[in-house]
Amino acid sequence: MTKHGIKEKHLDANALKVIAELNANGFQAFLVGGCVRDALCGERPKDFDVATNAPLEKISKIFRRARIVGRRFPIVHVRYGRDLIEVSTFRQSMSDNVVHDQQGMILRDNAFGTLQEDAFRRDFSVNALYYDPNTNEIIDYVGGLKDIEEKRLRFIGETKVRLAEDPVRVLRALRFGEKLGFTVEKKILALVDDTAKRLDAVPPARLFDEFLKLFLNGYGEKIWRKMRDTKLAGALFPSCNPQSPLVLAAMRNTDERIKGGASITPGFLVAVLLWEDYCARKNEWQPGDEDAAFMTLKDQQSFVAVPRRFGSFAREVWMTQDRLINRSPKSIDRVSAHKRFRAGYDFLCLRAESEPELKECADWWTNYQTANPENKLEMIQTLPKDVKKKRRKKRTNKAKLPENSEQAI
Ligand code: ATP
Ligand code: MG
Repeated sequence: MTKHGIKEKHLDANALKVIAELNANGFQAFLVGGCVRDALCGERPKDFDVATNAPLEKISKIFRRARIVGRRFPIVHVRYGRDLIEVSTFRQSMSDNVVHDQQGMILRDNAFGTLQEDAFRRDFSVNALYYDPNTNEIIDYVGGLKDIEEKRLRFIGETKVRLAEDPVRVLRALRFGEKLGFTVEKKILALVDDTAKRLDAVPPARLFDEFLKLFLNGYGEKIWRKMRDTKLAGALFPSCNPQSPLVLAAMRNTDERIKGGASITPGFLVAVLLWEDYCARKNEWQPGDEDAAFMTLKDQQSFVAVPRRFGSFAREVWMTQDRLINRSPKSIDRVSAHKRFRAGYDFLCLRAESEPELKECADWWTNYQTANPENKLEMIQTLPKDVKKKRRKKRTNKAKLPENSEQAI
């Protein structure tokens, strides 16, 4: 045990109340994981995890708004006001109660244990630090404090075994490395491609949760830059060209929006990551084929499963693109009032960064939005000629397009 000053402003009053309540019922309870790690790095944590020796059923009885969740690793969600505190019972990893598959992957882990055993089943040393608010002490069984000081990301135990137990840990390694600015141990980096192949054994819905953590937390660009040079990008989004400048631009844009407090949606990144695949399918589309957008999204589901509402968002953004580019005078009002106009316009601007022929069009829409009604009319009347020509050509091709491919607007 070491005395360590964690700043009070980095702690959450509701998480401390949960600990006090568990203590009052005769149980041990500590803050653990990302919140302790981030607070020690001087950042305010975004969520709080509590570990306790209280059994799950007991925890859910102590708190009024508590619910046991998760099948593989059941924990208790305790709601306090707007906060959600994740409370878990100490577990162990060396037990007959831990079920593995043939490759060593943990399928179920319901073996409860002591505080010390709980520390050793966690992934990285820096994630296995416990904070006791009663004594203001950090409990460190695994050398995590030293690793934080030396900015090193290291697995507890043998790297190969820990990655085999749960291949998602390779994504976590990359994420924490970039988020914290820590050096990821060479042993881990050497196993990235081998582990990427094993991600196909992970439920696609869990990979979607991980996708959110990777790319919607403000470090997406850095993480994508690392990922695109490994087999990880292809393991998550096999139809995406990892070197696509559009993807990189969108990752950067998402990070900037997060920093500036603007709204973000995973649907936009889904639209970006699958864009080239969608375009290829649309170009090859033949009468009788399934809709290109539908097939693009469907084939993605067995890798990272995209919830329906985000798939629909991506599809709607795709549908805006031709409309925005064609600028048919009659439909300009309708296009600019469409619920996906803003996202479609942002998408077009990002495309224009790497497709110079779209720049004029993106700028046109930028100006159009702030123009007064008179200027708007003039802008429509003075649209470049080649746009009008393309429009005419397009109309003659229309019969060839799949029925529902343009109906969103
Ligand atoms: P963040 O909240 O920033 O994503 P975190 O470290 O808190 O980071 P969580 O997913 O909230 O990540 O998990 C909380 C803690 O649970 C981790 O710090 C770690 O100790 C443990 N943990 C989470 N996922 C795993 C895993 N796949 N293998 C082993 N331990 C894990
Ligand atoms: Mg956490």
